Amino acid sequence: MKIIVQKFGGTSVSTHDRRILVVEKILKAKEKGFQPVVVVSAMGREKNEPYATDTLLSLVSNQFRNEELLSVDLLLNCGEILSSVIICDELFLKNIKAVPLTGGQAGIITDDNYSDAAVLEIDTSRILKILSEGKVPVIAGFQGISRKGYFTTLGRGASDYTAAILGVHLNAEEVEIYTDVDGIMTADPRIVKEATLIEKIDYDEVFQFADQGAKVIHPRAVEIAKQANLPLRVKNTLNDCDGTQIDNFGAQYSEKIITGITHMKNRVQITVTQEENKENEMYFRLLDILAENSISIDFINVFNDKSIFTIDLKDLNKFKELIGTINIKYSYIQDCSKICIIGSRMRGKPGVMAKILKTLINSNVEVLQTADSHTTIWCLVENKYTEVAIKALHKEFGLG
Ligand code: ADP
Ligand code: MG
Repeated sequence: MKIIVQKFGGTSVSTHDRRILVVEKILKAKEKGFQPVVVVSAMGREKNEPYATDTLLSLVSNQFRNEELLSVDLLLNCGEILSSVIICDELFLKNIKAVPLTGGQAGIITDDNYSDAAVLEIDTSRILKILSEGKVPVIAGFQGISRKGYFTTLGRGASDYTAAILGVHLNAEEVEIYTDVDGIMTADPRIVKEATLIEKIDYDEVFQFADQGAKVIHPRAVEIAKQANLPLRVKNTLNDCDGTQIDNFGAQYSEKIITGITHMKNRVQITVTQEENKENEMYFRLLDILAENSISIDFINVFNDKSIFTIDLKDLNKFKELIGTINIKYSYIQDCSKICIIGSRMRGKPGVMAKILKTLINSNVEVLQTADSHTTIWCLVENKYTEVAIKALHKEFGLG
């Protein structure tokens, strides 16, 4: 049995015309001799689209949303469930028998960490039975069921994860992630018009893209596919482009030092000041308190008289509360963006950081901080510089 998992994102299932294209992709897979297992997201992406996840969220009060996580997860499950039934209808109209399944019905068992549940086990027997009857299972992405029987969700954007983990457990030949762009591009095409398609990329490099803000694929999907050596392909529902192939060898196909550029908005740069050469007790205490409260920090620089680091904007209020409990002075810059320059071939090549800094300075971008690893360089800038910075770097490194 040659199984292929095909995942269709929110924009791919948002209108009748697009759902017809979805059915064509499923038909094509069948024609090639595959047994498709389909995973779908909720219809639409924007808040004004009636069944999109954000719209569903807006149906309940803020307080309920923050406190009644079990209920909110049940509400959010509805979006993907609707899509699964509607895609089955489109298939039905083409004489293809299909069965819609919730995540739980598809055998995805999770813990009960609502809104960000972890998958504990997968029972593929129902999917396999449906396939053996010659039907197409159409599974609601982004969701599972806890051992206690409550509906859960796996985190925003996690339909990709549903597809990948099912691909692993079904021993699929490949997982196709269909979206509204041609594949993984050198930068977000909504920001850089000249962004080009990356035809082949390896798991580690694409993980950096996913982890550092490129929405196009979920990091957990990449992680699980890598562990199982399962090939992924990101493709456009709207055309027949080959998309991006993701496997272990991708990086070998390119000669460019830089593969692409991503960014993460909503970073806050914090500066805490200490008395010079005084014991850093308070600072260490702060780090412990942040860790205990699951506030992660990065871009950490420690000087004699001050320390600088960044947190996510969503943690700012909590941070203020916590730092208020200890005697330490601080200031912050709220609207920052972390720009991430990714390239596994920059390893051991001198001068990349210098070129990045020169490019940014020549574009009048003020760089607040930098950090680097063997394969990635990060620059912290104020949000107002984000687009200029990405465009300038994209051009300078010949990615267009
Ligand atoms: P879906 O609903 O299909 O899951 P997403 O919105 O999650 O789609 O992801 C697709 C979007 O990711 C694209 O529309 C694009 O704007 C954005 N994106 C950000 N960075 C990149 C990148 N490097 N390559 C491709 N798309 C990117
Ligand atoms: Mg997505």
